[in-house]
Amino acid sequence: MQEVQGIYPLLGQAKKIVITTHQKPDGDAMGSSLALLHFFRSIGHDVKVISPTNWATFLNWMPGCSEVIDFDKKTDLAKQLVKEADILFCLDFNIMHRTKNMEHVLLGAGCIKVLIDHHQQPQEDAFDYGISNVEKSSTCEMVYDFIIQSPYAANLNLDMATCIYTGIMTDTGSFRFTSTTASVHRAVAHLKDLGLNHSIIHDNIYDNLSENRLHFIGNALLNRLEVLYEYNTALMVIPKRDLLKYEIKTGDTEGLVNYLLTIDGMKLGALLIDRDEERKWSFRSKGDFDVNIFARANFEGGGHKNAAGGRSNDGIEENVRKFKAVLEQYENQLQ
Ligand code: 5GP
Ligand code: MN
Repeated sequence: MQEVQGIYPLLGQAKKIVITTHQKPDGDAMGSSLALLHFFRSIGHDVKVISPTNWATFLNWMPGCSEVIDFDKKTDLAKQLVKEADILFCLDFNIMHRTKNMEHVLLGAGCIKVLIDHHQQPQEDAFDYGISNVEKSSTCEMVYDFIIQSPYAANLNLDMATCIYTGIMTDTGSFRFTSTTASVHRAVAHLKDLGLNHSIIHDNIYDNLSENRLHFIGNALLNRLEVLYEYNTALMVIPKRDLLKYEIKTGDTEGLVNYLLTIDGMKLGALLIDRDEERKWSFRSKGDFDVNIFARANFEGGGHKNAAGGRSNDGIEENVRKFKAVLEQYENQLQ
């Protein structure tokens, strides 16, 4: 994988560009994809954004979101676009299988492939150009850097700023995680100078709950939480019947895992959700406990040191049993 700057000279001529990101895109994935959509379009390229799956409806207000193609719904069109592309940008994921059903389409594409991402251990051999930096708060921050270091820095506009801010805000937990550097604040100051309305973005992303969803959270906190004090670990398990009862859709469980570390003294928060196709784990930690390593070693997952995910085809009970069993191995680290 060559340095991402190597792509700048290729942007001098009109190109067909496809941008994609990880399945179930979050604020950072969607924000970085749409920011680059607006940026490349401002240069005169023919640009399409393809998401491997659907996404949370609370992202729909983002500029350009209505034209994002859902691979699951428009598979033939998406495959055709990837086939015809000159350049493919892969954002906010480190391994191709994070694009689920798109993995083989992307691996088979003959075009130039570019990675911009902040997860550990990127699949470097799958990309021609790219940048992977785990120190960065978000892929949106990296897209900001990519734009302002380019010969087209002056094209940065309010739509791009809005998309970039969304990803920085969501991936830094609203500027509280340790990844929130002075550079992050400087970037946001620059975005404010472009007219960014950060307050509306917070409202759009966070103040959008239905009454049902608040009841779902209340039920989860009251009935689905188990605190394992001996391991400084909070575990929450959401059975499928809760998802059905409270009509929980993609994105509605976002943020739930963060409640677990609000209990005083907790070092590890683990959320297990019984999804249709798999059991999905979310892990969060404080301090030195590395959930990226934990998720990789035990639950086919990965992510960052303090925020990672995993998956399993086993049932809920089997997953909980395994989780409690493997916790014993980490007892020293968790105390
Ligand atoms: P979340 O818990 O919010 O779904 O994910 C937290 C972090 O872990 C994100 O950075 C996400 O990219 C990563 N992550 C979530 N699930 C998986 C997974 O199944 N595999 C890998 N490699 N990373 C994941
Ligand atoms: Mn991210």
